[in-house]
Amino acid sequence: MVKSSVLGYPRIGAEREWKKTLEAFWSGKLEEPDFHRQLQEIRLNHLRKQQEKGIDFIPVNDFSYYDHVLDTAAMFGIIPKRFAYEGGVVPLSVYYGIARGTKDAAASEMTKWFNTNYHYIVPELDGAKPVVTENRPLIAYREAKEKLGIEGKPVIVGPLTFLKLSKGYDKSETDAWLERLLPLYVQILQELKREGVQWVQIDEPILVTKVSADDLRRLQTIYGRFAAAVPGLNVMLQTYFESAENYTDIVQLPVQGIGLDFVHGLAGNRQAIKQFGFPADKVLGAGVIDGRGIWKASLREKLELLEELAECVTADRLIVQSSCSLLHVPVTVNKEEKLIPELKEALAFADEKLDELVLLTKAVNSGKAIVADELDLNESALQALKQSGERNRSDIQQAVATISAVQPERSRPFSERHPAQQEKWRLPIFPTTTIGSFPQSAEVRKARQLWRKGEWGNERYAAFIREQIDIWVKLQEEIGLDVLVHGEFERTDMVEFFGEKLAGFAFTQNGWVQSYGSRCVKPPVIFGDVAFEEAMTVKETKYAQSRTGRPVKGMLTGPITIMNWSFVREDITREQIAYQLAYALRQEVEALEAAGIGMIQVDEPAVREGLPLKEEEQAEYLAWAVKAFRMTTCTVKDTTQIHTHMCYCEFHDMIDSIEAMDADVISIETSRSHGELIHSFELNTYKLGIGLGVYDIHSPRIPRVEEMTGMIERALRVLDPKLFWINPDCGLKTRGFEETIASLRNMVEATQLARAKHAIGAI
Ligand code: GLN
Ligand code: ZN
Repeated sequence: MVKSSVLGYPRIGAEREWKKTLEAFWSGKLEEPDFHRQLQEIRLNHLRKQQEKGIDFIPVNDFSYYDHVLDTAAMFGIIPKRFAYEGGVVPLSVYYGIARGTKDAAASEMTKWFNTNYHYIVPELDGAKPVVTENRPLIAYREAKEKLGIEGKPVIVGPLTFLKLSKGYDKSETDAWLERLLPLYVQILQELKREGVQWVQIDEPILVTKVSADDLRRLQTIYGRFAAAVPGLNVMLQTYFESAENYTDIVQLPVQGIGLDFVHGLAGNRQAIKQFGFPADKVLGAGVIDGRGIWKASLREKLELLEELAECVTADRLIVQSSCSLLHVPVTVNKEEKLIPELKEALAFADEKLDELVLLTKAVNSGKAIVADELDLNESALQALKQSGERNRSDIQQAVATISAVQPERSRPFSERHPAQQEKWRLPIFPTTTIGSFPQSAEVRKARQLWRKGEWGNERYAAFIREQIDIWVKLQEEIGLDVLVHGEFERTDMVEFFGEKLAGFAFTQNGWVQSYGSRCVKPPVIFGDVAFEEAMTVKETKYAQSRTGRPVKGMLTGPITIMNWSFVREDITREQIAYQLAYALRQEVEALEAAGIGMIQVDEPAVREGLPLKEEEQAEYLAWAVKAFRMTTCTVKDTTQIHTHMCYCEFHDMIDSIEAMDADVISIETSRSHGELIHSFELNTYKLGIGLGVYDIHSPRIPRVEEMTGMIERALRVLDPKLFWINPDCGLKTRGFEETIASLRNMVEATQLARAKHAIGAI
């Protein structure tokens, strides 16, 4: 018999009750015993749901009080020295201290979990003396069994992945660290075995990235040790997010099951199985239901795939499972009331994916006939969306095909545009500007709420926004900035704002997913052909420009960022979606230019997030990402200055792509890793306009003039002063009013000092 399995279930709850419980506890509104009780209720609820649906292997220990990587570190007592921790079970104050910082100690760094939008807390190994503080998987297993009679499948982050994601040790000490951790893992597993656990899922997603020969040897050590020390415990070695590298080595490890992703790693994994077969003594965890996408699967296609796989393993060795944890999708489509039927019927969030898993399992076991009705329903839902008007805008498809057939180019190269722009704008050397947004005060948020609720009419709200623009245009002039912005007061979110105004997007009411800790995001859904309908930013920008003689930069979110921060359709490629977005945004760029806006910034903070995990696929992605940006911006006049902004520092490995975007000016977030970035400019020359953020906007601290002078001087050692701009390192919307003004004043003062020092006159 084929069985069904889930790799992990969302923590946040259908009503985000998990988030609310955490936040109530943090703000002191909930006592610790009540807090534990409420979280237990949420956790049991999630287990009960999977039980009722009929999932065979239900994950336990996938639930977390914040993040599962932090849980693993806490389980091993790996607590940074700066927190007062005296051993034993890690108290909540320490646990949350690491995650969120305390008044005495900074939080641990957090970073993206592979290529998802989930962020984990980076374990800090330096100085740690790992011990088992408590057997978390065991506690979770017992709870599920005692409370619900569930024979759970404990989920654990595997040793190799854990080490690779940790910091605070020299790579040469990897083996020593492994030796410190392995006995602890063994202890955990032995206790699980003794308790009667049948299967554990050990997550090693690191195995979809390049695995070195040393790491392959380490894998042998790890799983050989487990097999020897805990005989009889079944280990499902789980990979996800891509196809497994080194398939032949991995499938020979002494484990009982191998979990592969047949959604995001379909081609590679399928090919490997075809070519090398699958060992007869192992169970294949076939991840066929997408744990990251929001769409219903084509059940017929999945059944065909399962039939194909069933040729390589016997039925009792095949498990139908999600491609990865369902953590990355919202909880249920049930609560959505505002989506058009064609869309709603085609969606499957976590709960609906449980149904899909159970259905597929049933079909494989008992034959398709038994689920014929469900298969028909599934087929017609997918067909309906496919045939919807939104997906069949031939006008858009044709236009995009035409414009994407040519390589988008500005009419003249930067070397010729630059003098023309100098001539037109007559900016001083080291022009100053900001990244776009100004503080979204309580007043601004309140006004937007009133307007959304209908208590304020459009005109009243528009007048309020104009007032804010007035205030900040005046302030920017008074502070002495050269290129102004309107402040983005009308926007909540840089993607949602555009999504709401473009065709092809839908917004769920409850489609939240965890981003980090209690923070959830509700990505827009790009479900149809994207189309420009009417100007989106012209009114506010034009108004701001009418209030000042200095140039005001128009402000748009770029095609790649909009795509990477949305859930997207899967019937066309991401590349095609990016081009549709580019075509729509190009019309906005043109509308701004026609309205007299001569500087236009197209933000692309999320370009790097879309980078494929497989190195060999990265160049292709970057090529079409760059093309989409150029498509958005290439039709303007030579004298119209295109700006862009990016917010990350690991920039050195894609500097060529950034240059290829051909933006006249780029501003980059750098103040936290200034040294590294400067170094990358020592190695590469950048030939276009560039502003390196001279202060960190993530902190309320007002930077001193000398600090910024230091940043500027260091940057000028490697960058051409004629192309250098001065700006903060990101948008200012999360900052306070007073501190923003004070910081910008200091920035302008630092600029004046730099101008005096490097005086080469106006350029
Ligand atoms: N223009 C945006 C802002 O200033 C850019 C934000 C971002 O890079 N994330 O808010
Ligand atoms: Zn930024």
